[in-house]
Amino acid sequence: MPASSMDELVSLCKRRGFIFQSSDIYGGLQGIYDYGPLGVELKNNLKAAWWRAMVYERDDVEGLDAAILTNPLTLKYSGHEDTFTDPLVDCRSCKARHRADHLTERKCPNCGSTDLTDPRPFNLMFKTALGPVSDGSTFGYLRPETAQAIFTNFRNVVDATSRRPPFGIAQIGKAFRNEITPRNFIFRVREFEQMELEFFVEPGTDEEWHEAWIEERLAWWDAQGVSRSRLELFRVPPDELAHYSKATVDLMYHFPHGVEELEGIANRTDFDLGSHTKSQGEFVIAAKVMPNNDSNTKLAVQDPDSKTWTVPYVIEPSAGVDRGVLAVLNEAYRVEQLDNGTERTVLGFRPHLAPIKVAVVPLKRNHDGIVAKARAIKQQLSALGLGRVLYEHTGNIGKAYRRHDEVGTPLCVTVDFDTIEKDDTVTVRDRDTMAQQRVAVGALGDFVKDYFR
Ligand code: ATP
Repeated sequence: MPASSMDELVSLCKRRGFIFQSSDIYGGLQGIYDYGPLGVELKNNLKAAWWRAMVYERDDVEGLDAAILTNPLTLKYSGHEDTFTDPLVDCRSCKARHRADHLTERKCPNCGSTDLTDPRPFNLMFKTALGPVSDGSTFGYLRPETAQAIFTNFRNVVDATSRRPPFGIAQIGKAFRNEITPRNFIFRVREFEQMELEFFVEPGTDEEWHEAWIEERLAWWDAQGVSRSRLELFRVPPDELAHYSKATVDLMYHFPHGVEELEGIANRTDFDLGSHTKSQGEFVIAAKVMPNNDSNTKLAVQDPDSKTWTVPYVIEPSAGVDRGVLAVLNEAYRVEQLDNGTERTVLGFRPHLAPIKVAVVPLKRNHDGIVAKARAIKQQLSALGLGRVLYEHTGNIGKAYRRHDEVGTPLCVTVDFDTIEKDDTVTVRDRDTMAQQRVAVGALGDFVKDYFR
């Protein structure tokens, strides 16, 4: 059963070291968070699962890791300088600022006043000075989405890999948006990460590919423990589509604060490649793009027989890493009533996402034989390369089990006197069933590998 409130998740995340308010000791920075010792593992595991599914397990996707600082011309021709805005209203009474489309009535949620300004477009991009002279003449943007660098590198990747549509380019990285009202923990923040795939297809096959990608993405989320039953498909109405989109389907998740977008899957047509292409007159470009005089290349593919050039269409599944982490945490969280009248909190992560894979717990932390054995087992299991294996030094088995249930560690391995004096076996305890079994130390590696397979 998912968490009943955002407060429970926020408190667990802070207490156990998943997520902290950034610059906390100076009062924080609104809409900015840091990932702690367990949060960084969870986030890395989620990104690795996406990369595996997108790049390693497919034969038609290449990877990319492009810069965050972006040439303003890229974001001029992509349309972001003109249209990447949210409607901003000011409250004349308390001076609070709000996103007009998030207000349910024309009333300030802060002070209740109805004396609001008319909405005006507010551009969400962050600008920063480049170089030593900060007179405004040389600046870059912090990218508001990772996608644009995939488009501007299209020619480079095609030339380097000889790919032809259908094929994709995948990228995971930071994006920045100066959100008017960041809120709901890591759901809406100003600095976040995206996992984006731009999948290039022949014009005319785009609608079929769009539907195929929606199914792929639902299946992937399901494999991360975000079940299909808690996702809704929202087909964005034509008048609400982004400037580049012919059709967008949002995967809407039941977050603790409401049903909101986890991932957007857009048919961006030939808009972006067309916009960044020199001498557009040579090409048939379906989307309405700005006339381009600045780029020095054509982002198109040539038919080897007819020699004609085509600008591919692109299908874009774009997922937020931070929203993904929040959804995974929410799905994993449960509080169980135990037979002895107590309760336990469990994060029932899928094993591949668990921040700590195995905790090795010595029965006594001051017994040389047990400690040496536990440390050796920790090294042996770490060498399997499954992820983080922790040597747990609390010396209190009950406390260690409770702590590891709460942070979602699938297996605890306890080293006791029998291990070193009798039969070289350990107790393996399962997070979900709490069942315990003795396993020979010699067979432990295979046991653990099988569990995580
Ligand atoms: P929203 O309507 O919620 O502002 P969006 O439609 O602007 O989102 P996209 O531009 O489609 O979002 O971005 C793709 C993905 O990036 C989103 O599905 C979301 O997971 C993530 N994302 C976008 N903005 C933010 C943000 N401010 N904080 C965290 N994640 C974000």
